[in-house]
Amino acid sequence: MIITCPNCSSRFKVNPDTFPPEGRDVRCGKCKHKWFAVSEPEEVFPEPGTDAPEETLTAPEEQKPFPQAPLPPSNPLVDEPIESAHSRRTRLKKKAILKSIGAIFGAVLIVFALLFALKVPLTKSIPQTAAFYKTFGFNVSEKNKVVQSDVFQIGAVERVVSKDGELTVLTFKGKVTNRKDMALTVPKLSVTLFNASGVAIDEWVAQVEKSPLGAGETSTWVCRFFNPNLENIDAYTVQFRP
Ligand SMILES: [Zn+2]
Repeated sequence: MIITCPNCSSRFKVNPDTFPPEGRDVRCGKCKHKWFAVSEPEEVFPEPGTDAPEETLTAPEEQKPFPQAPLPPSNPLVDEPIESAHSRRTRLKKKAILKSIGAIFGAVLIVFALLFALKVPLTKSIPQTAAFYKTFGFNVSEKNKVVQSDVFQIGAVERVVSKDGELTVLTFKGKVTNRKDMALTVPKLSVTLFNASGVAIDEWVAQVEKSPLGAGETSTWVCRFFNPNLENIDAYTVQFRP
């Protein structure tokens, strides 16, 4: 005889010898739904050998979950400990907490991305925010300037202090890219050092390694100051020489 899960419509073949005629509590082996089952008319589920090949093909598949489907004779709905409902609630609560933690992390990430994107405009309009960025390791130096041209782009400038024997060497280096769609001669670059009062205290000229540069091509430049008065240097400017 056949019973059908009212929740997921899975159908199970049950042994009529162990199934009381008045019906009993059962649990669906597929979706774990519990209900009070009564037997259904046999013709809904043709036996193998009758001419309904599709039904008989799909039916054995649906029977598979059955071995765990019938519940023990004692009433399982009464047996079910209150614990399980409680643990289910705890599990759902945990799920909700995890979900909100995820949401908070997402929001924090978005805020950081925004702050990072707005770093330059923010520190320009509200100088106090520079201190905030510094605490997160972002170096905001408004004093240092890189003056771009519309022909060549000066990439990020690297500033390194090193020792060469007794000599202290302050090195500036970076890249220059030809923005135009033709080969062009790259002008010389100058690096100017300023003290805290904004007075130029030193200047050095750098030649880009490769010139002319082809369309979209990039080359490097290096500029060195020997034994600079590091305490006096407050800012630098990198620009093309006119
Ligand atoms: Zn079911």
